[in-house]
Formats: sequence, C-alpha cells, structure tokens
Amino acid sequence: MENTAIKQNGVTGLEAIEMGAARVMVDDKKIINCRADLNQLVPFKYHWAWEKYLHACANHWMPNEINMAADVALWKDPNGLTEDERLIIMRNLGFFSTADSLVANNLVLAVYRHITNPECRQYLLRQAFEEALHTHGYQYIIESLGMDEAEVFNMYREVPSVARKAAWSLKYTQSLSDPTFHTGTHENDQRLLRDLIAFYVIFEGIFFYVGFTQVLCMGRRNKMTGTAEQFQYILRDESMHLNFGIDVINQIKIENPHLWTEEFKQEAIQMIHEGVELEYAYAIDTMPRGILGLNAEMFKEYLQFIANRRCAQIGLTQQFPGVTNPFPWMSEIMDLKKEKNFFETRVIEYQTGGALSWDEE
Ligand code: FE
Repeated sequence: MENTAIKQNGVTGLEAIEMGAARVMVDDKKIINCRADLNQLVPFKYHWAWEKYLHACANHWMPNEINMAADVALWKDPNGLTEDERLIIMRNLGFFSTADSLVANNLVLAVYRHITNPECRQYLLRQAFEEALHTHGYQYIIESLGMDEAEVFNMYREVPSVARKAAWSLKYTQSLSDPTFHTGTHENDQRLLRDLIAFYVIFEGIFFYVGFTQVLCMGRRNKMTGTAEQFQYILRDESMHLNFGIDVINQIKIENPHLWTEEFKQEAIQMIHEGVELEYAYAIDTMPRGILGLNAEMFKEYLQFIANRRCAQIGLTQQFPGVTNPFPWMSEIMDLKKEKNFFETRVIEYQTGGALSWDEE
C-alpha cells in the first residue's frame, strides 16, 4: 500500500544519488508525478518552457534603471495630480507591493516542489526572480515618491478591496504549502491544478488588469511616466507568467485527462467568476468616479472580455458571449516590441566586470 503511494507521487530532485542509474529519456518526463531524475535539464521535452525561460532572460530589466524625476516632481506638486489620480496610484501600489510577494511565496513554498520537470522549474526560478524584481519596482516607486511605506505595504490588511483579492488566493496556496502534502492521488493532483488556475489564470491573469490599465492610462496621458514605464515592463513579464501557467495547466490536462472532470471544470468557471467580481469591486474602489476617459462600467466589460480569454485559453466555455475589449490599446502596449528598446535607454552598467578582477595577475 505504502509502496504504491510512493511510486505514484513525483521525485523532488533531492533523492540520494543512484550510481549507474539509466540515462533520462524524453519519454520519462512528465509535468507532475515524474519519477525520472529532476537534476538533468536535458533532453528537453517541453520546448515551450525552455523558450519562455530564454525569452524572459532576454527581457531582463532593473527597476532602478528607470528615471523617476518627472514622477517625483509631479507627485510633490500640490496641483500636479487630482485626488482621484492620487488614489489610483496609492491603491495600486498598495495592492501590487504585496501581491508579487504572494505570487513568489506560492511558487517557492507551494508549487515548485510538485512540478516535476526541470525545464519548467528553470522557468519557475526565473519567474520567482521576476516577482522579486516587481516587488523591488514597487518599493522603488514608493521610496522615490516619498510615500509612507508602512501605509502602502500594509494596505492589503487595511483596505477591504485589496484584502479580499489576497485572501481569496491564499486559501489555494495554503492548501499546498503543507509539508506533508504530496501529489499522486486524484484529489491532490486536482488541488495542485486548482492552485495553478487560482494563481496563473486568476491572480496574475485577472487581478492585475484593472491596476495595469489605470496606471498605463495615466502614462499615456504623460502622468507618472516613470511609474507607468515600470508597470509596462511588469505587464510584459506578467503576460509571460500567464502564458507559461496556461501551457503548464494544459499539459497537465493532456497527461492526466482524468483530472479534468465536469465537476472540476464547473469549479474552475466558478473561480473565474469570483475573480471577475472581486476585480470589479476593486475597480469601483480605486476609481469611484470616472477619470482619464475610464469608468467602472468599462472595466466590467474589460474584465468579462479577459475572463472569456482565460476560459478559452484553458479549454472552458466562454462565460460572457459577445463582449468586446473597451481598451484595445492595452493589447498593443503588451507587445513591447513596438515600443522603444529598453537596452537603448540603459543608464546603468551591470557590475559583472568588477567581480572578475580576481583573474588579474
Ligand atoms: Fe508574476
């Protein structure tokens, strides 16, 4: 009995070395419950995961390379921004400054151990670093603007519309972070899949989009341009996180079709509906009156449009037939290739040269 349980769940990569064990074959590899050695990156099976890792590295950026002088001047000028515009900046920094820590902690403390594939883990490690960069970015904005750091970082424990999004996601990661949790049973494999849907499809795929739209809209109107530029790079990273998560979810479905039951699909749809509701409440809370050509009604439609995309991306029925995208410029902004090349505006050199001085003499 116990032996079967051990055989069903995956390895972690920390097993004792088995001298003379057979070489890893592509066919041995699986996203979950894999028994083949996880310390050997190749042979590749999931080329999409490796490609995303390379792509993410090619898009590297650092928050402190972005000039915040115009934002500081505008923020400190008593007539620089309206109260409504200040609320948008404050609330979004409040949400995002802790949101990326929640995502990182979910990856490192809950998800990573159960993804039994080295090329996917390679991407997860890169993603975890990007989450750290995003938190760094928010901290850098908060510090540059001279905000009350404690107030902003504590907002997810003070502002209900921010708290509800964080609380909604926590139950999914808490269920997995238990050290005695192992995949390998129908119920637990579904728990992992549920966490992946909660974090990739809803948290990173729906909960980020009101804030991104609001801040990028300010940037398009030449307000808080340094902040908006950072949000733009973060959005580019986030759309890759989302796409990676969708590929992982779909690959787990292909390899474990028995997990994708009618009941489970209904549950996933329900989670997406809850995500739309919570994000819409956040839109109203961050923008009680229409400004910048945006209003809460437009966000309702936008969130339904996004929810339809998320459903289609993981093979669920679209829930809001006929809705259109009220912010077509958001899709353009996500494709940063049309924007200036980040590396052309680079102002700080990496310090790797200095670290090599041991080679001299
Ligand atoms: Fe992310």
